[in-house]
Amino acid sequence: MPFNLQKLLRPHIAGIKPYSSARDEYTGTEGVFLDANENAFGTPGASINNASASFHRYPDPYQQKLKHRISEIKQVAPEHIFLGNGSDEAIDLLIRAFCRPGVDNIVVLPPTYGMYEVSAAINAVALKKAALTPDYLIDPESLDAAIDQNSKLLFFCSPNNPSGNLLQPELIEHYLKTFEGVVVIDEAYIDFANTRSWTEKLQQYPNLLVMQTMSKAWGMAALRLGMAYASREIIAVLNKIKPPYNINALTQQQALKVLEHTKAQQEVVQHILANREQLANELQALDIVEKVYPSEANFLLVKMRNAATVFHHLIEEKVIVRDRTKVTLCEACLRITIGTEEENQQLVAKIKEYSSSVAE
Ligand SMILES: *Cc1c(COP(=O)(O)O)cnc(C)c1O
Repeated sequence: MPFNLQKLLRPHIAGIKPYSSARDEYTGTEGVFLDANENAFGTPGASINNASASFHRYPDPYQQKLKHRISEIKQVAPEHIFLGNGSDEAIDLLIRAFCRPGVDNIVVLPPTYGMYEVSAAINAVALKKAALTPDYLIDPESLDAAIDQNSKLLFFCSPNNPSGNLLQPELIEHYLKTFEGVVVIDEAYIDFANTRSWTEKLQQYPNLLVMQTMSKAWGMAALRLGMAYASREIIAVLNKIKPPYNINALTQQQALKVLEHTKAQQEVVQHILANREQLANELQALDIVEKVYPSEANFLLVKMRNAATVFHHLIEEKVIVRDRTKVTLCEACLRITIGTEEENQQLVAKIKEYSSSVAE
């Protein structure tokens, strides 16, 4: 069946007329602006010479400059880009646009990112789970069994959090061809992976939405900026239901500055990849470690004896990692973010300290 966005949308969303902000109606930068009840005298303490400290005007609701820059870097036209207050905003808006509470559902493949489930729960939308295989790959039988006629969104996280691996591209493509709702591919960790982005397939699949974020490889977690790439039609839906000024002016300004430094970003990514390999080797050499899972991300999933106790020991030593021992298929696993050389050394030293204390 051909993809029909209008049929997929919740009917009342199709009928909504979006809030029209003052800045929507006139987008020129020059003139006498008496349309938005702003403070014409500026921000207290901000002088003419320090325009970047002045926040008295509402920000651009569609973040045109920022999208233009992202478009250059990512090779995706601005009309195919939505920016959210973190990827988490895009996840929430997608669920609100497509899923009728109490009727529709979203499908996720655990173990995976926790926000899909939380966002579904907040919106009273059911969650269908199709567990990954023990190697953290898509199990088509369990996925086919989870999908029903009310499944509106299918979330693939690749590289997956917390397992760190890529999901099978040929299977993702199969679901792009056959799933009747929107296929979301969360590429939060794509910059650390040895693969191409699914954004290259946007023209081919009208039901594809790719999410990325500035929070990981770009080092801007505090700014809260996430990207969603999709067809013009899907982007128009997200734009229609988002809060008008969802990306604040500081974030837009600062992200534009940081996005000038593509070379420095690539160098940092290479540095993280080198540290990832080094840390994986060092952890693998420890007796207590049973398995370091291969990673295409900026973290390692590590299976070890007494994982929960190691976790608490590390906390006492002020080294904080993520305890995944209660997560499906991650029993006995900690998720460890790649740090600086010094941080990784501290981590390894504290684990060694623990394992020699129990050996005695
Ligand atoms: C960290 C992460 C994100 C990023 O979320 P933001 O809201 O953009 O910070 C998205 N998806 C996954 C799988 C992540 O691990």
